[in-house]
Amino acid sequence: MVVGRYAPSPTGDLHVGNLRTALLAWLSAHHQGGILRLRIDDLDPRTSSMGDEQRQRSDLGQLGVTFDRGEIRQSERSEHYDAAIANLVDRGMVYPCYCSRREIREAASAPHQHLPDGAYPGTCAGLGEQERRARELDRPAALRVRASNIEIEVHDRRYGSRTELVDDFVIRRNDGVPSYNLATVIDDHAQGVTEVVRGADLLAGTARHIWLRDVLGLPQVQHEHVPLVVNSNGERLAKRDGAVTLEDLAAQGFSADAVRGLIAETLDLASRGEQPTMLELLERYDPDAIPTAESVWDVH
Ligand code: GLU
Repeated sequence: MVVGRYAPSPTGDLHVGNLRTALLAWLSAHHQGGILRLRIDDLDPRTSSMGDEQRQRSDLGQLGVTFDRGEIRQSERSEHYDAAIANLVDRGMVYPCYCSRREIREAASAPHQHLPDGAYPGTCAGLGEQERRARELDRPAALRVRASNIEIEVHDRRYGSRTELVDDFVIRRNDGVPSYNLATVIDDHAQGVTEVVRGADLLAGTARHIWLRDVLGLPQVQHEHVPLVVNSNGERLAKRDGAVTLEDLAAQGFSADAVRGLIAETLDLASRGEQPTMLELLERYDPDAIPTAESVWDVH
């Protein structure tokens, strides 16, 4: 059975880009006779809030994105992340990293590097015991896996196949919080997820997840990244871009049904002013006919 999931971080209100991704995850799972589960990505206690979570749940519910049983929340799962980290530590696949963001940026931009954006250049990979002890006095270490820029084939249902490098990415941040890249892989397995439908901004990190599943002996999943919604300058949608949340749009007179219609219009699943139900959208949904270009949102 196909099991999809939607995994919002409760760090603010969902905007129409997030809602559109949730709607597509729902359509994709149900189109295949499957189910969709919710995961609350509240790993980071400093940025997550219960109020945001409740508003996100209410907004998804109003839009008609329903979830099946088997919800999980990341803040309750640290023992599972710790076990996976201990496994990698025991196998010698992890090293401590003392770099600040600035040091990483500077090292990655050095002329001899040919790494993808945001990739770790391996600065701390070869530190000896003495150097480690000295650096530990300055700042606590994050933990990185030793992936050594191995090449991985990524197959994406929408974007096709590509080869990507896997850098030595973080599995535990230097404040002790497990990283998103680690948690998402462990949690997708725990929820029995077979397909991940999410925003195209996460396509670049997918090779890391494929690599980590292999290393941890977890089954692979299908990936489908969906194009983002952008503002009129072509930038990723944000709060400041006019009416972008259900609350903003309600203040402009758009009901949740009307917003579902507007989102459906960006997916070529509705004509202007139409307000199809989720079931009507499911009847119209054809995974191959979803636009691959980014959609511009200009409701003010
Ligand atoms: N909480 C993550 C986000 O909102 C989820 C990413 C994912 O779907 O894997 O970006």
